[in-house]
Amino acid sequence: MEEIYRQLGISKKVFQYGQEVEALLESRFSEIDRNAEYNQLKVLKAMQAHKVSAECFMGSSGYGYNDLGRDTLEEVYAHCFCGEAALVRPQITCGTHALALALLSNLRPGDELLSPVGKPYDTLEEVIGIRPSQGSLAEYGITYRQVDLLEDGGFDYEGIKKAMNARTKLVAIQRSKGYQTRPTLSVERIGELIRFVKSIHPGVICMVDNCYGEFVEKREPLEAGADLMVGSLIKNPGGGLAPVGGYIAGKKECVENAAYRLTSPGLGKEVGASLGITQSFYQGLFLAPTVVAGALKGAVFAANIYESLGFPVVPNSTESRHDIIQAVTLKSPEALVAFCKGIQAAAPVDSHVTPEPWAMPGYDDDVIMAAGAFVQGSSIELSADGPLRPPYAVYFQGGLTWYHAKLGILMSLQKLYEAGLADW
Ligand SMILES: *Cc1c(COP(=O)(O)O)cnc(C)c1O
Repeated sequence: MEEIYRQLGISKKVFQYGQEVEALLESRFSEIDRNAEYNQLKVLKAMQAHKVSAECFMGSSGYGYNDLGRDTLEEVYAHCFCGEAALVRPQITCGTHALALALLSNLRPGDELLSPVGKPYDTLEEVIGIRPSQGSLAEYGITYRQVDLLEDGGFDYEGIKKAMNARTKLVAIQRSKGYQTRPTLSVERIGELIRFVKSIHPGVICMVDNCYGEFVEKREPLEAGADLMVGSLIKNPGGGLAPVGGYIAGKKECVENAAYRLTSPGLGKEVGASLGITQSFYQGLFLAPTVVAGALKGAVFAANIYESLGFPVVPNSTESRHDIIQAVTLKSPEALVAFCKGIQAAAPVDSHVTPEPWAMPGYDDDVIMAAGAFVQGSSIELSADGPLRPPYAVYFQGGLTWYHAKLGILMSLQKLYEAGLADW
């Protein structure tokens, strides 16, 4: 084993350190495996209940009327995530698009959007109009309020109550930390927040940005009272096989609003050719629980490796997990770049290229991204990225298999060690 790691560029010192850390994680890993087992059965149950058959894998073209595979897949998603309905489409280009679609279709001029969990994900700043942008909610006369989390990560219930008013139509709750170092919200905590919001204003739509959260726990946000949950298919639920797409699941009326906005008033879910990629959506969903388990093991391993070397990590080495993201505060731009170079060098695709910080559309600071993925930009595949701003935190996620995630993390450590930025 040591020899093949050496052939891939991992020194004896780094390999042995990795083995020591891994040996301590047996019970964490078996807990992750049990969760995957449960979620695998949940997916199978949904597929069987809706009689997924070989005909579902035939594509449609043109208008895409009567596309059995597309319509059945949406029923499978709704069943699996405990929603009344779902919209699962290759025409939803990414997570940001899915979120923008859910917001733009369920809000009307004069309505107000509230984020009770602080600043939303960077790309949503332009969707909302926090940073002025063409086509934003602000341009349509939809206002925005935000209540930050308390210092200890708790909800500011008093502040939320004050911020809610007659115009508050939709409350957006981001589960994952995004490019922040706040804790990720568990489904249970999301449920507490929703109960509070609904006790003030029962009619408000509670939408959860579920990016990176699917299959990490046994329950999903709709089971905790959310009206809508939204995510990307090139993250968890696509299982690494979906080549594109996003989903919106939840209350029928809210999902239909999104469908009428995605296609056209009057057409809604009835159109949208699947162009022969539906099988990858089914197969990806089928694999997603075990893929997410591999990614979670990687995240736990990374937390344990880097925490013991003195780098602050969120979540920490022992905390429970509610998404697949691992933040490691690397404290310098050099260390951030070295970490990403290691992840890149361990990839199955493009391992020979060197990532560099760059300006990215939708992001305010330069961002460095490392990924050698089969699906471009897929972050259920092993990837690392971070904005070039203090405290130089890297956000690490994915890994279609635990073994690849492990190699990536060891390679990141190898690069830091070789640059004199980490030692033990
Ligand atoms: C990834 C992500 C998004 C945006 O998804 P893209 O597919 O990158 O557009 C939104 N919110 C959160 C929390 C995310 O992790």
